[in-house]
Amino acid sequence: MFKIHFMSIEVINISKSYGDQKALDAVSFSVKKGEIVGFLGPNGAGKSTLMKILTTYITADEGSAAVNGFDVTSNQKSVQLSVGYLPEHNPLYLDLYVREYLAFNADVFKVEKSRINDVIELTGLTSESHKKISQLSKGFRQRVGLANALLHNPDVLILDEPTTGLDPNQLVEIRKLIKQLGKEKTVILSTHIMQEVEAVCDQVVIINKGLIVANDETKNLQAAALQQVTYVVEFDQVIQKQDLLKIEGVIAAQGLADKSWVLQTNTLVDVRKNIFDFAVKNNLVLLSIQKEEEKLEDIFRKLTAN
Ligand code: ADP
Ligand code: MG
Repeated sequence: MFKIHFMSIEVINISKSYGDQKALDAVSFSVKKGEIVGFLGPNGAGKSTLMKILTTYITADEGSAAVNGFDVTSNQKSVQLSVGYLPEHNPLYLDLYVREYLAFNADVFKVEKSRINDVIELTGLTSESHKKISQLSKGFRQRVGLANALLHNPDVLILDEPTTGLDPNQLVEIRKLIKQLGKEKTVILSTHIMQEVEAVCDQVVIINKGLIVANDETKNLQAAALQQVTYVVEFDQVIQKQDLLKIEGVIAAQGLADKSWVLQTNTLVDVRKNIFDFAVKNNLVLLSIQKEEEKLEDIFRKLTAN
């Protein structure tokens, strides 16, 4: 049987060091065509380094990577034609008018002039397109960066922290735009904000200190987070841990104070009834019970804690 399994981005055991600083340590993952993947990690995790490798700006020390099926070392030109790149600090020529800037880059990429109007429309820049870039808000400057990345109509967009520094309204607008662009293209965006991934991405790759610590569909990670429900309980008497572990659904118990415990569960079922029944059966008074749901944000913090 033939299996057609087209990956837009394939990263295999990529390592990269700057001097004796290891920025990426045998990183591997792949992105299916048409997906929006979030590359999530704290500052210094290695996100920009990987993106520069995928856009052929720098080369890896070890491993291989392909974009749109083209190898980033042996087929750089094809990779460059396949990707639109928005670098971390979105370098723009502030003195140029929006149209002038895009026309300049259209020349560089040998793109038809008619494409300039297309990308202006695509990125919602029409009302600002007659202005100088220096006159634009940060949100509209990001749109110019995105318009620029789209000029040669690439299949893959590589966006390095596209929403950093935006105000809350601009943030929502740019996320909306990225989602819209993601309907036509494969998108990899880096961010240090988990909520951004939840709002925009189908898949999330979490990186910490150059190592991949999680890689899953966003909805799977959200489901895993949901299962990490804990209950903080307080009884009127001292209780033994092994007794608490007999409560159905409780998989771990950690003593807080004399008569207070944190109970961890492995089920989406609400175990508060079981805890209450346990108290009644053992002639205990349940003084308080508090449900604490773990959020995806907490998982991210745990995975990148050190
Ligand atoms: P991120 O984008 O996730 O913040 P980077 O890829 O920029 O992370 O950086 C990863 C690590 O590599 C950091 O420790 C950073 O200081 C280091 N680094 C990045 N670029 C250079 C460089 N040109 N020279 C030396 N060290 C670098
Ligand atoms: Mg970076």
